[in-house]
Amino acid sequence: MSGTATKRSQKIILVGPPGAGKGTVAKSLVDRYGLCHLSTGDMLRAAAAAGTEVGLLAKSFMDKGALVPDSVMVSLIEERVQQPDCRTADGSPAFMLDGFPRTLPQADALQARGLAPDLVVFIDVPGDAIVRRLSGRRTCPACGNVHHVEFAPPKADGICDRCGGALVHRSDDHEATIRKRLDAFELQTSPLVQRYGAMIERVDGTQRPDEVMRAVVAVMQRHGYAG
Ligand code: AMP
Repeated sequence: MSGTATKRSQKIILVGPPGAGKGTVAKSLVDRYGLCHLSTGDMLRAAAAAGTEVGLLAKSFMDKGALVPDSVMVSLIEERVQQPDCRTADGSPAFMLDGFPRTLPQADALQARGLAPDLVVFIDVPGDAIVRRLSGRRTCPACGNVHHVEFAPPKADGICDRCGGALVHRSDDHEATIRKRLDAFELQTSPLVQRYGAMIERVDGTQRPDEVMRAVVAVMQRHGYAG
């Protein structure tokens, strides 16, 4: 009997305050394990840039640091997780959600559709560290690369090192908006930590990025991922 074999966690959720480094962790995990990565923030920004109805509606909330209504978010995710790249060969759901759920009703919606997570990775960073990180962040809309004026400055001011694109200061990365996003996290998202309870693996997100990654990989290994 192979009672010690670990069943692979297939429905993974990354939770953490804005700026905790979820996006960076997610990208590394995709490279390493080829997961179907769904970032609701990226999806909304792409929709806003394309000028779709949902995108423009979402932008009006995002620019204020507020959460986009649950109904909009649930339909967005519901449609996306049906796609074949978020299914295993036998059709079971397999994905890593980054930025969803962010409220209890969103968590309920996943549960009701049989999509409740089997692993929740919580990247923990205190609020004051977040403000310093996010207000200095400069993002490249062309390739997704992220610089920081203090911690990872580009070689040429305002220019992405990776692709030469013009870096932007995201409208929701300005200090007043960051504080609102942190409030939204405390009020609306932190109750998820209680909801998911023992399913949560907490990682200290204040460590160096390579240390954060090492800790996350250790979690993944405990949940059935090799390497
Ligand atoms: P992020 O890039 O994940 O920090 O998301 C940027 C912004 O998109 C958030 O501040 C929200 O306005 C919006 N957003 C992303 N995901 C969600 C979600 N699950 N529920 C509500 N709003 C969201």
